[in-house]
Amino acid sequence: MTAVLSTHGLVARYGDFQALYGVDTELHAGESVALIGANGAGKSTFLRAIMGLLPVGRDMVRLDGAPVGGTRPNEMVGKGVAIVPEGRRLFTGMSVEDNLRVAIDRAGRAGARGGWTLARLHRLFPILAEKTKVPVQSLSGGQQQMVAIGRALLCQPRVLLCDEISLGLAPKVIREIYAALPEIRAEGTAMIVVEQDVGLAQSASDRLYCMLEGRVTLTGRSAEITREAIGEAYFGVR
Ligand code: ATP
Repeated sequence: MTAVLSTHGLVARYGDFQALYGVDTELHAGESVALIGANGAGKSTFLRAIMGLLPVGRDMVRLDGAPVGGTRPNEMVGKGVAIVPEGRRLFTGMSVEDNLRVAIDRAGRAGARGGWTLARLHRLFPILAEKTKVPVQSLSGGQQQMVAIGRALLCQPRVLLCDEISLGLAPKVIREIYAALPEIRAEGTAMIVVEQDVGLAQSASDRLYCMLEGRVTLTGRSAEITREAIGEAYFGVR
């Protein structure tokens, strides 16, 4: 079966600094894959490289087997890839609804098609229905994260890239947000979830990749990987 998304010897640099050293991964339709690793391992860089936010070789990223590396982010949205970026990056000073409408317009312009609407998003995160006119900066961190996820979903992704969506949130809120992920997958959306919390990453994914200093050091089925193996791959101890 062709992977919906795959990377092949993915290399990324910031000027002279090399952040990724030949990363091979694959993601199948409807699958959830977690990407773990210490600070600076290259996880955000990996997502940004896929999304076209960093220059990479054409053949290094493929969608349904077709090379798309280096495609501009707006075009990637049109091809069905959306990102929930680290730090959320919402448009402050704009209401919840206006933030979400930006995504609807963006998806429309990019030609992305799918079943996500504001009404469906409100069923997924009911609190957003009560806050439509509220400026995003006055929401709690968890509510802002829901807007960020909603904004990505309204891009109608087949592949959703989530960058540390639990960061800085209370455990109860994290549970609430992670509880929404299976519902998103039920639509056939595959996802890559970058997560610092290893237990959370394991429980939310079918398969897992661990990265260290720009390289994949471990991969396998999340339910089968031992804590010991993760510890070694995470810290590079032998
Ligand atoms: P974190 O959990 O801290 O976000 P990460 O695994 O996502 O870590 P990246 O943010 O991808 O790691 O960073 C990988 C490496 O690239 C780090 O050494 C980081 O310092 C470097 N890096 C990231 N962004 C830039 C940039 N804009 N310019 C230069 N170097 C960068």
